[in-house]
Amino acid sequence: MIQNKDDLARIITAESGKPLKEAHGEILYSAFFLEWFSEEARRVYGDIIYTPAKDRRALVLKQPIGVAAVITPWNFPSAMITRKVGAALAAGCTVVVKPAEDTPFSALALAELASQAGIPSGVYNVIPCSRKNAKEVGEAICTDPLVSKISFTGSTTTGKILLHHAANSVKRVSMELGGLAPFIVFDSANVDQAVAGAMASKFRNTGQTCVCSNQFLVQRGIHDAFVKAFAEAMKKNLRVGNGFEEGTTQGPLINEKAVEKVEKQVNDAVSKGATVVTGGKRHQLGKNFFEPTLLCNVTQDMLCTHEETFGPLAPVIKFNTEEEAIAIANAADVGLAGYFYSQDPAQIWRVAEQLEVGMVGVNEGLISSVECPFGGVKQSGLGREGSKYGIDEYLELKIQMLGWA
Ligand code: NAD
Repeated sequence: MIQNKDDLARIITAESGKPLKEAHGEILYSAFFLEWFSEEARRVYGDIIYTPAKDRRALVLKQPIGVAAVITPWNFPSAMITRKVGAALAAGCTVVVKPAEDTPFSALALAELASQAGIPSGVYNVIPCSRKNAKEVGEAICTDPLVSKISFTGSTTTGKILLHHAANSVKRVSMELGGLAPFIVFDSANVDQAVAGAMASKFRNTGQTCVCSNQFLVQRGIHDAFVKAFAEAMKKNLRVGNGFEEGTTQGPLINEKAVEKVEKQVNDAVSKGATVVTGGKRHQLGKNFFEPTLLCNVTQDMLCTHEETFGPLAPVIKFNTEEEAIAIANAADVGLAGYFYSQDPAQIWRVAEQLEVGMVGVNEGLISSVECPFGGVKQSGLGREGSKYGIDEYLELKIQMLGWA
């Protein structure tokens, strides 16, 4: 992957529109999962258990779970594959990958590289399919008796369908699903730091990441200063364009349906009293582009506060107390990522512990890292990927009771 990083990055930009610089970053991140798990493969240890009986001991063996079905989304067409496949191969499993219908080429390029790298045929398999066939192919893979494990990243709606398939044949599952990340700015926060974090967490991949901030909760005392600085940073730093063009930070959304969703959320919010600070409409560049948008005077009855946007929309809700912010954040039925900015040490501990999410950024807008377990609580998923824990998702425990009486 590293030797071919320029080609791989260009494939991502061509198939998803992601700005080329970000696509390069994704390839390095993606390759790092393979490197990380190749090291972790050396550390799959068993155990010895001493039971009360003097004449027997139990050994705990870790064995590969078998064939893993890997179903991935389009927003990180390479990294979502290697985060799963790296762990699966390191555990000794084989994989059948069904990439998203909008982005099959990164998955196929990895198949070519796997073959060049000497990975035996049949170990890394790819089944691309059209939107029309996704349901049928997904069902076939997930119900096949030869498949022992389903690892899925995508929307909560599809995740629930796959959970039903898994339940019928009792397969192990890992699910990385949608989120509704709150980004909370408390009065004690440093405005510049909070704005830098907001820009990084909201606008990466044009707002199409599962951990990107979905709603900004800003305390009354810092509200106006934050909104002003955030709007200025957006105007200064975001450039909408073709992903291949130098300087583009905001590429197209994945398809027109995605644009319609952002547009619907903006219109809904405005009709209920929200104010457009910047952006607010489709971008002149074409049907798949939307202007980076900042809304204030947002209230919880608006769609954008309880429906994942997956686009360049930042809605700001004003709040008064810490309790109120936590209550708004925890009202969601999903809990993948959350962020908050505060300079108060006691508040940092209180809020970090109370937020119902799998990953929390404290004065930090980027939280994904190969070394750390990635995953969510509530309806954001089951299990964790990456890190030293990721490999366990592809291993079975077997005990071997040894007696000598
Ligand atoms: P999606 O659920 O529509 O599709 C994901 C994958 O599932 C695709 O490969 C698709 O072809 C397949 N699929 C769709 N219907 C299927 C069915 N009935 N049976 C089997 N497979 C089926 O999601 P998407 O729009 O591609 O991705 C966006 C979603 O993914 C967002 O909700 C985002 O939050 C989530 N996501 C989560 C993470 C995470 O790690 N938690 C990471 C990236 C994206």
